[in-house]
Amino acid sequence: MLHVTDTIAALATPAGTSAIAVVRASGPDTGRLAVEIFGLPPSPRKACHADYRDIDGRLVDDVLFTFFQGPHSYTGEDSLEISSHGNPFIAQKILADLLTRGCRSAQPGEFTQRAFLNGQMDLSQAEAVMDLIHARSDRALAAANQQLRGALGKTMDALTHRLLEVLARVEAYIDFPEEDLPPEDTNWLDVELQSIAKDTQRLLATNRYGDMLREGIRTVILGAPNAGKSSLLNQLVGRDRALVGEEPGTTRDFIEEKILIGPHCLRLIDTAGLNPSPVPLEKRGIEKTLEQAEAADVFLLVLDATQPIGELPREFASRITLDRTILVLNKIDLVGTEPPPAPFPARYTVHTSALNGSGLDRLREAIGSLADSCQPEIGGERVSINARHAEALSRAQNYLTEARGKITGHDPVELLASDLRGALGALGEIRGKIDNERVLDRLFASFCIGK
Ligand code: GDP
Repeated sequence: MLHVTDTIAALATPAGTSAIAVVRASGPDTGRLAVEIFGLPPSPRKACHADYRDIDGRLVDDVLFTFFQGPHSYTGEDSLEISSHGNPFIAQKILADLLTRGCRSAQPGEFTQRAFLNGQMDLSQAEAVMDLIHARSDRALAAANQQLRGALGKTMDALTHRLLEVLARVEAYIDFPEEDLPPEDTNWLDVELQSIAKDTQRLLATNRYGDMLREGIRTVILGAPNAGKSSLLNQLVGRDRALVGEEPGTTRDFIEEKILIGPHCLRLIDTAGLNPSPVPLEKRGIEKTLEQAEAADVFLLVLDATQPIGELPREFASRITLDRTILVLNKIDLVGTEPPPAPFPARYTVHTSALNGSGLDRLREAIGSLADSCQPEIGGERVSINARHAEALSRAQNYLTEARGKITGHDPVELLASDLRGALGALGEIRGKIDNERVLDRLFASFCIGK
């Protein structure tokens, strides 16, 4: 267990007026503080109603407090949670009093950092706490909960275990350097390393979906000027967010809005129309549109169904992926009973009227299905890694490639073992076997104070 001598305190709820405010403290002094402030030895995990009097005996508020005895607490050490009336002035007075009584102001994320250092959770679970706080869709919430319950940790353990077996086999030969690995072992090692590398790669590929969960699925609305892109964005957002005009070229910059479609959070981006003969300001808008298209997860390609549909402009056709495109044939209210056929083989084709809202439910369904298909599954566990995990996995992957090269090149087994240890080290970082304290401090500094 981590050896901590100080007791930290912080406001755990936002600093505004609310029904309840919570101040929490954690560390070896918490039990003594509870007795000092409330006058009775606290029973662990029981909410008690009491007066909060400051160090000079002045009544601050009547509060509910709960004492948690380590290791049965969030941080793994003795902790205290004090719920007062939700007035930031009261909460600040309680916090100031705790500091006067010897606590230290907690750094951002310090409670979770202590939980990690005390072995209450691994680093991927600590990161999941952060994801849980920021989750804005059902999918993001489910993924954060799974990671908090150790889904990524379990996947990493399985991978690490297999790599350790490989290393054990290799190390058995280190004492006999003059002997070559027997061919049956060489085969087994190569096959096993290839399979581990494949699983590592599959895990790496979940990074993109992880970004989508954390940032929202980048859904870029593209099309010719006046096709109804802004009207469609307004319909999906449910209010007039973008300017709608009869003149082409009303959207010259791009507009971004976050919306929920079923369990998914989308970053909906309306772009400047792709006018084949633009005025200078429009040109800049089109450049930005192409940049947005480059980074899109899903494309909504809006075409005016009343106009003849020609070829897609070349610079733009090369940037969209039809498999991730929903073709939206808009202004269907102006077309007779026979809707025009799809001019391109996109993943989905939907007929809409952004004016009267018809076809919008079908469009939402198509977006939902496309978003669903972005979610990868790894051996029954739905795992979606973040940038830190991706960096460690890529490093592990490089070591594995090196190791496989050494098997085929019949290099000395010590060198092979060293690559395998490198890969193990990189994989270990995901659960938190990190020696570098500064890396940890930086990671927890991105949390909020009181968490
Ligand atoms: P954008 O340039 O692609 O963003 O197109 P806008 O959303 O600004 O729409 C251009 C014009 O088409 C506006 O006058 C809209 O009211 C009109 N419009 C957009 N969608 C529809 C539709 O589905 N049906 C009809 N009849 N008009 C539409």
